[in-house]
Amino acid sequence: MNTQDFLDLELKYGAHNYHPLPVVLCKGDGVFVWDVEGKKYYDFLSAYSAVNQGHCHPRIIDSLQKQSTLLTLTSRAFHNNVLGEFEKYTSSLFGYDKLLPMNTGAEGVETAIKLCRKWAYEKKGIASNKAKIIVFDGNFHGRTTTVISFSNDPDARKNFGPYTPGFISVEYNNLAAVEKVLIEDPLVSGILIEPIQGEAGVKVPVDGFLYELKKLCEKFGVLFIGDEIQTGIARTGKMLACDHENVKPDILILGKALSGGVFPVSAVLADDHIMLCIKPGEHGSTYGGNPLGCKVAMTALQIVKDENLCEKAEFLGAIFRKDLSNLSSPLIKEVRGKGLLNAIEVNDSAESKTAWNICLELKQRGLLAKPTHGNIIRFAPPLVITEEQLMDCVDIIKNVFDSYKK
Ligand SMILES: *Cc1c(COP(=O)(O)O)cnc(C)c1O
Repeated sequence: MNTQDFLDLELKYGAHNYHPLPVVLCKGDGVFVWDVEGKKYYDFLSAYSAVNQGHCHPRIIDSLQKQSTLLTLTSRAFHNNVLGEFEKYTSSLFGYDKLLPMNTGAEGVETAIKLCRKWAYEKKGIASNKAKIIVFDGNFHGRTTTVISFSNDPDARKNFGPYTPGFISVEYNNLAAVEKVLIEDPLVSGILIEPIQGEAGVKVPVDGFLYELKKLCEKFGVLFIGDEIQTGIARTGKMLACDHENVKPDILILGKALSGGVFPVSAVLADDHIMLCIKPGEHGSTYGGNPLGCKVAMTALQIVKDENLCEKAEFLGAIFRKDLSNLSSPLIKEVRGKGLLNAIEVNDSAESKTAWNICLELKQRGLLAKPTHGNIIRFAPPLVITEEQLMDCVDIIKNVFDSYKK
């Protein structure tokens, strides 16, 4: 079977809920992936930053294999001998009292919302079922019914109602707008934020925004809920993107690279006065906290430390942005990002096919990236990329922008 056969197969038997680049991958190793024709590519998406540790990292695969022969799932009806170790390891690493394990990112967000609401009623004294959470225009927190209720992307929302109430969306990067809502509405109990908006096109708030936002949270007694599913685990050059401003979220949501792209694991972290608002029987997941995922996640986090992935992302990211900024193409409107989460905003309308066509051209030359929101191309290679490989990729990107004809 060739590429076209695989595309046809999915088209015929799969739901049409994605629009992938026409490439069919069958192998991955570190920064590289291979298609079914044997062509090799640099992966510049890293499965939306799930594969920060590189494809099929041997230590993660080893953990997976070892645990898979011992015990894979008990459900939470019984204890298993790995969960506690994972909870201790991860809570200590991020500096929280406790962790609640789930599987996907969206489940992590749902968990954080439920936790915030429970805290609002039981600790903050909000009248039952009245709590509100501030979110931001352009947000992406997943695909569940509640989460898309506060999206303002028409594709994510339209005809999926009725929507879950209790959310107020304000302009991203606008502190005054947040403060106004906090002053006017005493029912607000939490602020849910991506420290950099990934899906919206790698939107980086101004320096100090997160810090000031946290101060507002403290002043008004509301919880800062950090969705670090895409920005966390070294992607932006620190363990968390919030670390750049020494902000510690009251509720932290992790996913994606928490398990290095090997097995879905997400987690919500908080201190006791928040986390213990949820009591036995009030929340959970059959697979959440399974020993296979716990082992995989511990190894995935240990690799980030052992291979200095934060320092690498910070160092290489600065070089990458400088080199891209030096490209003098009329097609480039802006280069932005932090660490190795970067984007080029293409100088064309959001409806144009330019970014898509550039990505097809990049694919031709051995680099896989994907447009987000029309005219923005996100560049997020696995953090194990070497400086030499990164320079090779800068050349590929430069050549494509130099030769691209509309
Ligand atoms: C990917 C992502 C999610 C959703 O994670 P899933 O595992 O796809 O459910 C939530 N928030 C952010 C910021 C993300 O990037």
